[in-house]
Amino acid sequence: MNACILSIGDELISGLTTNTNSSWLSLQLTALGIPTVSHVTVGDQLQPIINAIRHALETCDLLLISGGLGPTEDDLTRQALADALSEQLVEDPDAVLQIEHWFKSNNRVMSPSNRVQAMRPSSASVIENTAGTAPGLHTRKGHVDIFVMPGVPTEMKQMFTRSILPELRPHAGNTITQVTKINTFGMGESILGDKIKDLMARREGPANPSVGTTVHEGIVSVRIYATGAPDEAAAMTDRIRKLVTDRLGPLIYGENDETIELAVGTLLKVRRFTVATAESCTGGLLAKMLTDTPGSSAYFLRGWVTYANAAKRDELYVREELIAAHGAVSEPVALAMADGARKEAETDFALSITGIAGPDGGTPEKPVGTVWIGLATAAGATARRFNFPGDRRAIRQRAAQMALSLLRWHILGVTPLV
Ligand code: ATP
Ligand code: MG
Repeated sequence: MNACILSIGDELISGLTTNTNSSWLSLQLTALGIPTVSHVTVGDQLQPIINAIRHALETCDLLLISGGLGPTEDDLTRQALADALSEQLVEDPDAVLQIEHWFKSNNRVMSPSNRVQAMRPSSASVIENTAGTAPGLHTRKGHVDIFVMPGVPTEMKQMFTRSILPELRPHAGNTITQVTKINTFGMGESILGDKIKDLMARREGPANPSVGTTVHEGIVSVRIYATGAPDEAAAMTDRIRKLVTDRLGPLIYGENDETIELAVGTLLKVRRFTVATAESCTGGLLAKMLTDTPGSSAYFLRGWVTYANAAKRDELYVREELIAAHGAVSEPVALAMADGARKEAETDFALSITGIAGPDGGTPEKPVGTVWIGLATAAGATARRFNFPGDRRAIRQRAAQMALSLLRWHILGVTPLV
């Protein structure tokens, strides 16, 4: 089976929106051992969409289309598919019910134009959309399987995973490429790369399994590509995972889409610990990250954003003399913020962050990027100074990620940072 991926939307060809759907879909197909032969993107115009569908029907056995299923005049995918197949559009009674149900259960009024979304080419069946209004479509032309999904990435992903993937599994190739990302935080890419240098070597041509590193938002990930029969690929991945885990240990917090906040949250939950936060320069980002995980109320009890000195004094009992003597960005203030938060919230742990996110406010002794992170526990508080690189956004992000990591390492009883 060979796949063509067709993306539809003016916003994609104008450059306004990055086409993330086609790359995501290709990754899913790669994992199934179904090669993608082309990515085609066309704007919201009938004839170009028809042409692209007809061309794909001649070149592949699987056509995945996303976008243009909305209720407005510029959403033409349904019509184009019907035209390309020389079929009429008919209204699907089940789809009408599904759309009506969606509006009802989301407490919204259905506009008459939404009824258009229940139209399908006569040979097609509709695919339920559990995340939005536009149903998907499935049909066949000769030997080509055609699936149409909404353009909204969350809707597209849900529909693919829930309804299309199971249909494709029987067609999976004998050779798959298993892609695994092992996520780490706390060590720079080059030092980390040195530790797994031998695994990444590709002097004798392309390696299988192949190992590489990528960095995104302070997270250094080790990427493993293993190609072979499904059980071979899994065995290769396991072997590399074990080697990487032996060498990087507690720097590893998760795999693939797993985040540090998820790792910390799971740890807190399993060990039945609670945490509070006291933030200055991160403005609530740490609390936001901790509460991004569903079920976080089990461990996150309270957070403060004490931006002004008076707020640190009034809400966290940071003594004014301390701030006057050492400045708000200092070890004693980080310690006092963490202690104050832990006492007030009555939690097992409290994290504090106070720093200079920039672009202004740096001094020679405390340049932009200077951040003190405190951790209060039943045994007392400790704090560490960091100098994070990057702009305001990056510094705040690193500070929150580091605070979460410090807590995680403390609970695990390890100290991976030098
Ligand atoms: P809906 O029925 O929800 O209106 P639709 O099928 O009409 O969905 P579009 O209107 O084409 O989808 O796109 C909806 C949103 O999804 C837009 O914000 C668009 O930028 C985004 N989107 C569409 N296609 C892609 C893509 N290939 N990659 C990333 N984002 C996309
Ligand atoms: Mg569109």
